[in-house]
Amino acid sequence: MIELDVLIDFYKRGERQGPGSEAASLKALSLLPIAQNDPLQIADIGCGTGAQTLTLARHTRGHITAVDLFAPFLEVLEQRAASSGLQDRITTLEKSMDALPFATHSLDIIWSEGAIYNMGFANGVQQWSQYLKPGGYLAVSEITWITQARPTIIEDFWQREYPEIDTAAAKFSILESAGYTPLGYFVLSPDEWIDTYYAPMEAGFAAFLARHDHSEAAQAIVEDHRQEIQFFREYQDYYSYGFYLARKG
Ligand code: SAH
Repeated sequence: MIELDVLIDFYKRGERQGPGSEAASLKALSLLPIAQNDPLQIADIGCGTGAQTLTLARHTRGHITAVDLFAPFLEVLEQRAASSGLQDRITTLEKSMDALPFATHSLDIIWSEGAIYNMGFANGVQQWSQYLKPGGYLAVSEITWITQARPTIIEDFWQREYPEIDTAAAKFSILESAGYTPLGYFVLSPDEWIDTYYAPMEAGFAAFLARHDHSEAAQAIVEDHRQEIQFFREYQDYYSYGFYLARKG
């Protein structure tokens, strides 16, 4: 198995592939002034195995196009949708988020949890705007500094991992420059990293290593994630995911 397949196997068994929670998705949804019965066209970009896709399907009357670069995640989402009776409300699409096939002004909502960093926040919100109808909504979670100052070690870590990390004020400035009106913001709690994402991930380490005969690739993936979790436990006061809600225009 090449390393990417091993990595996909590591992630696809999780309930989600990034920090978040059903409560956070619902809170974000409640900050958008949409009517319960609106037959909305929604895109969920970087959907992974679809934790938030299923939540959106249950709590709106919209049709959701769930986009991810990796087919194995979409297959899990399709199974989950079918077993919840939601398959008619969700279409999966294997595409890269920087080359989406949506028509201009075709979407009511663009949703993206823990994924926009793959193309960069500024680039993503600018490019995706063309697909939104005028007055359409953007709901995006993005790694964010939650204090004004922080230890050098954590600055250096994030400079390597994702130099676009910034404060919410800076992210809103980017949104405004790209033609959006801010509607709301909140920060994920540490529980929404640990309980829903890191704890289940840790619980799966042993089985993952066994499935891959303790291969070098598998051990490296576990070690990387152990360090990431340790880092979060130490420095969670300085960064989290911010959830950004905005209207186009
Ligand atoms: N929204 C999900 C998954 C977040 S993890 C959740 O919160 O659980 C980030 C997701 O982005 C992964 O599923 C990954 O496969 C996907 N991804 C990475 N690069 C991508 C790209 N270029 N285009 C589309 N999806 C991408």
